[in-house]
Amino acid sequence: MQIYTDFSLLPYNTFGLDVRAAHFAEVSNLQELKLGLRLGIRPIFLLGGGSNVLFTQNVDGLVLKNGIRGIRIVREFRHKVWVEAGAGEIWHDLVQWAVSQQLGGLENLSLIPGTVGAAPIQNIGAYGVELKDVFVRLTALNMETLQTQTFTHKACRFGYRDSVFKREEKGKWCIGSVVFSLQKPPHRLNLSYGDISKTLKTNGIESPNIADISRAVIQIRRSKLPDPSQIGNCGSFFKNPETARSVLDNILRKYPDAPHYPLPDGRVKIPAGWLIEQCGWKGKRVGNTGCYDKQALVLVNHGDATGEEVRTLAEAIMDSVEARFGIRLEPEVNIYPPR
Ligand code: FAD
Ligand code: NAP
Repeated sequence: MQIYTDFSLLPYNTFGLDVRAAHFAEVSNLQELKLGLRLGIRPIFLLGGGSNVLFTQNVDGLVLKNGIRGIRIVREFRHKVWVEAGAGEIWHDLVQWAVSQQLGGLENLSLIPGTVGAAPIQNIGAYGVELKDVFVRLTALNMETLQTQTFTHKACRFGYRDSVFKREEKGKWCIGSVVFSLQKPPHRLNLSYGDISKTLKTNGIESPNIADISRAVIQIRRSKLPDPSQIGNCGSFFKNPETARSVLDNILRKYPDAPHYPLPDGRVKIPAGWLIEQCGWKGKRVGNTGCYDKQALVLVNHGDATGEEVRTLAEAIMDSVEARFGIRLEPEVNIYPPR
């Protein structure tokens, strides 16, 4: 394991921000991870693919990039298998592996950037499926005691783009591996998201399989989302607000067509992208940053933006959405350093 000093993180964050780490190392197994933690350099910043982090300044201490690889079947049942993947595996590679093995459950989560280890942090989700739907357990290393611990589904306390690792256990654990429960054929397909069925229909597919769904999701995502290798971004910058029905009713009086989705607890989810668009931000450029023209929820780096510029834009958007709709948007992206 090599330790670098004054190391550029430019290729290690999808916003494409030119920040530096005081120290940087990539670990490829648990022993190296422990070694890195024993160096005594603090604070530690754990990095996966850098696709959900906004660096607003250089990073103090040690950035540890997780490169722990490996995908293996750990248990086999009649209708399902348990698959364990190393935290440093690329998420989309795991999805493609599962599809190639005829194992269902991950296909709707195709093409989400980043690593397996970061996926439970915000309970990644897309097209009607969340990580929690296929999650069994994870193993993590306590960054102070260096003891490993297993977190069950219940212990992770998953919520919408949320888990215990974003709240009370924030910054305490390094996830080393994750176990998923995947279905053997016949698969239960999730086509509930409008665009999936529409795309399959356009592609002339009447009886889709998991590979068709994965291809459709990839096709939709490529058409709507900026490719970070071309335009720096972190996907959705904000969470979709989940509000009381009364808040929505107020909005519906003025905007009868406001999109919304009922939640099981009686509240409603309002797409943040719609709120931002109503405030006139969609496609707007502010200096080197801006709001993506095909999806207002995505903030982009048009070239030489700094993290601080992106944060300033995000705050301006939050203020204007709050002024118009009385809803304070919450960033989904992890902002470094946290305030
Ligand atoms: P990083 O950005 O490296 O880290 C994110 C957080 O996790 C940081 O706080 C970091 O410290 C912590 N972390 C990373 N690895 C570990 C570990 N091993 N142990 C403990 N903590 C760790 N997200 C969705 O949910 N759904 C989507 O559909 C989606 N689409 C996206 C599309 C684009 C174009 C982009 C750029 C992003 C998108 N995202 C989406 C966000 C992002 O891809 C996910 O949040 C992803 O899980 C982040 O993985 P990462 O490895 O890049 O994490
Ligand atoms: P979309 O399909 O245009 O829908 C807009 C929003 O409405 C979504 O955020 C989604 O909420 C909600 N929605 C749509 N159909 C729904 C349904 N049938 N039931 C409940 N909620 C519904 O969204 P998009 O921007 O193209 O993204 C498609 C999917 O990819 C979404 O699931 C989105 O979360 C995910 N995605 C996530 C990121 C990220 O960085 N987090 C980036 C790009 C795409 P949900 O977000 O709760 O699903």
